Amino acid sequence: MKEVGIMGNDLTKGAKRVVADLRELAELTSDEHGAQRVAWTPTWQKARDWFAAKAREAGAEVTVDTAGNSWAKIAGVSPDAVAIGSHLDCVPNGGWLDGALGAVVTLEVLRRYGKGATPKKTIYAVSWADEEGARFGRNLIGSSAASGTLDIADIIDRVDNQGVKLTDALAAHNVLVDDILGAHEEFKQKNITEYLELHIEQGPVLESLNKQVACVYGITGCERHALKFIGQAAHAGSFPTLMRQDAFLAAAQASLAFKEIALKYDGVCTVGKVSVTPDVVTIVPETCLISLDQRSIDPAVLKSMNDDARAVSAKAASDQGVVVRWEKIWTIAPTMFDARLTELCKQAVEEETGEPKTIFSGPLHDAAEMAKLVPSIMMFAMSARGLSHCQQEDTPDEAVETAVRAFLRLADKVIQ
Ligand SMILES: [Zn+2]
Repeated sequence: MKEVGIMGNDLTKGAKRVVADLRELAELTSDEHGAQRVAWTPTWQKARDWFAAKAREAGAEVTVDTAGNSWAKIAGVSPDAVAIGSHLDCVPNGGWLDGALGAVVTLEVLRRYGKGATPKKTIYAVSWADEEGARFGRNLIGSSAASGTLDIADIIDRVDNQGVKLTDALAAHNVLVDDILGAHEEFKQKNITEYLELHIEQGPVLESLNKQVACVYGITGCERHALKFIGQAAHAGSFPTLMRQDAFLAAAQASLAFKEIALKYDGVCTVGKVSVTPDVVTIVPETCLISLDQRSIDPAVLKSMNDDARAVSAKAASDQGVVVRWEKIWTIAPTMFDARLTELCKQAVEEETGEPKTIFSGPLHDAAEMAKLVPSIMMFAMSARGLSHCQQEDTPDEAVETAVRAFLRLADKVIQ
């Protein structure tokens, strides 16, 4: 909106360069089904080489840490450093913006500071390795190695769908699992005092509010569990309805109640997996296994949602004459971003759009790992139809440019 003076002109040109770079990267790393930059593949490497060449062109020095994260550095007056990043890897048949937007915008930050006067703070543009976990099922590998939270035991035995071992796939990119946590030591030596990340929303909220960009003040926490309802298999013809112990009906009743919990607390509850045994049309289901994924930005609300889910699942089981057992899959507490950076981010969004719009993130991002170590913040660009992790993922150029301009303003505020 405010586009006056030299800075406004710079921002406008910079935002257009970012869109052009994104198109170039998509052209280089997509086929007719979408983007194919799956981590630890030749196409991903091609994207990284492209990124490194552009970063060097901007005047940065590029290195790779022991976890395969790429770091492009421009030394500042102060050794205190601002890290700005996202990921170049994507899901198979992915979109052109997930991760790429936040990685490519860092090139423009490097160009703003690489050839001119020395910036106040040192700048690192980081492209995290394997954010998506698309191939080996563990996401945030590079950023969690850098934050020091990666558990080697959790990844060492993993194998992809083709039978390739994770250790071999990483070794082909010079990443040795035994040394991967060295990235944490390297991170500490970089003296990073802030982390900034731009990403697409990957959901429909901003579009529904007719907003192009927002400051992200936190990332939801998650309670993820497997629920097994156990009843009694019986003949579908001979057992009267009220005498059955139908495990599926209990799971279905509980699932409908989970939706009410989500609405009551303004969180989300998802039953994404359902399976019954014996899975035969003429047999009343003996067991029904469902997954439950619950998310909220408020830790107290998340706990209440989980407590309520346990209560309604017990009631559903009892109503249907079955039992239910819970098993934890994974949990993570909500992440609240740094208050000072949230304020600067809101200002940047307001300067660009006239309104300090804020939102929280449902998906996890590399910034969640960084927030464990240093003050961090994210900014979201709207996603058309909320779609992501698919070829249809899109954001109109105009909205990408608005988000980039707002993000460059934020970077300037933090660096200078
Ligand atoms: Zn992403």
